[in-house]
Amino acid sequence: MEFLPLFHKLQGSHVLVVGGGEIALRKSRLLVDAGALIRVVAPEVEHQLQAMVDGSGGEVRRRGYAEADLDGCQLVIAATDDQALNAQVSADAKRRCVPVNVVDAPALCSVIFPAIVDRSPLVVAVSSGGDAPVLARLIRAKLETWIPSTYGELAGLAARFRSRVKQLYPDVTQRRAFWEEVFQGPIADRQLAGQGAEAERLLEAKVNGAPPHAPGEVYLVGAGPGDPDLLTFKALRLMQQADVVLYDRLVAPAILDLCRRDAERIYVGKRRADHALPQEQINKQLVDLAKQGKRVLRLKGGDPFIFGRGGEEIEELAAHGIPFQVVPGITAASGCSAYAGIPLTHRDYAQSVRFVTGHLKNNTSDLPWPDLVAPAQTVVFYMGLIGLPIICEQMIKHGRSADTPAALIQQGTTVNQRVFTGTLADLPRLVAEHEVHAPTLVIVGEVVMLRDKLKWFEGAQASV
Ligand code: SAH
Repeated sequence: MEFLPLFHKLQGSHVLVVGGGEIALRKSRLLVDAGALIRVVAPEVEHQLQAMVDGSGGEVRRRGYAEADLDGCQLVIAATDDQALNAQVSADAKRRCVPVNVVDAPALCSVIFPAIVDRSPLVVAVSSGGDAPVLARLIRAKLETWIPSTYGELAGLAARFRSRVKQLYPDVTQRRAFWEEVFQGPIADRQLAGQGAEAERLLEAKVNGAPPHAPGEVYLVGAGPGDPDLLTFKALRLMQQADVVLYDRLVAPAILDLCRRDAERIYVGKRRADHALPQEQINKQLVDLAKQGKRVLRLKGGDPFIFGRGGEEIEELAAHGIPFQVVPGITAASGCSAYAGIPLTHRDYAQSVRFVTGHLKNNTSDLPWPDLVAPAQTVVFYMGLIGLPIICEQMIKHGRSADTPAALIQQGTTVNQRVFTGTLADLPRLVAEHEVHAPTLVIVGEVVMLRDKLKWFEGAQASV
């Protein structure tokens, strides 16, 4: 190990920054965040840097560097583009045994800046010892996605109970077990879901010796339209901690693979007529599993609140007092339109967009047709394949031109995506001709014409 990672307490300490440009500014920002009083020495100083110094109780010496600038400083940063000057600052600091960092010159440094994930008081630092800073930054980016932004609050919660827990469990092994339960169980879940007061209450009860009652929880998560890259950070995190997964037919296998390996998987998918499990049974199963103390992931295609019956599922949970979280997903309309090069709105063609279910009750035309044919509006039909002949017929009958551009997008955002464009009049023919299958989205409106210009990137985006 070439460098030993240490965390430097700088509150109220003087830190010398030699240089007054962009790089000095970037480093100074970190130092000020850490509570340091910066002393900037440079003949010219960036306006923003000057403002930062003024606002944080530091000092600017607007002239060339002199060794005496080091007096009283606990850390030195050389951030000039004059290599000889940087080397001199480094030598002076080392002689005085003051830690020194020279930007982009590892050989002149006694300390280096890591890439930082800041969830204060929890801080993760990653370093490549100056050999490959970009690699360290990429790892940092991965950690950023993996560590929830509210993790710091979890550490804060632990800090408030720390001494009491220490008294309660003088034995370090017991204490570790206690905290592991806290950080991996419902208390952490509550805190990370933004319910700090409830987390505090549960931890208080646990410290007071409440029996380990572990209420389960349900995560109602939108998995997006198919491409796993379209998952949200939060979706992925919950997928990796759930004990059991209930998933739909629409959830792509590549997405399911991202769930925790040892999680139990239950298929509850629905096809149009042959329901694998009636909705009431799904609702009941969610309640039962959560009551057993499990963390239950209800994974749904697209967004759970858009034609996903998510509302009904959480109504049942709420009625039973079971905690739940809802994580939005990218709905098929957003995903498919983006990957097919069809903007849903456009200043010249569509000032509004409607998402409509094409699932017709009793095969009759029970949709608000006069609204759907309004001009300058894009209409997106979900579940519109079966009723497509009726949909097209009714739109034309109610005044939308038979020439209105329209598109079919099958398995949008996946590598199997297929897009067919035509007009309202010939969509049903396209379905038969190309054997179009579900899941398919139907987009009607002038915006479809833009695809000819914008489709060049199709395929480049789909990663699965
Ligand atoms: N909650 C989902 C929609 C469920 S309804 C969402 O927000 O996307 C199911 C319908 O969504 C399908 O019949 C189809 O019309 C559409 N759909 C879902 N995923 C799709 C995909 N990858 N490509 C095309 N259409 C899709």
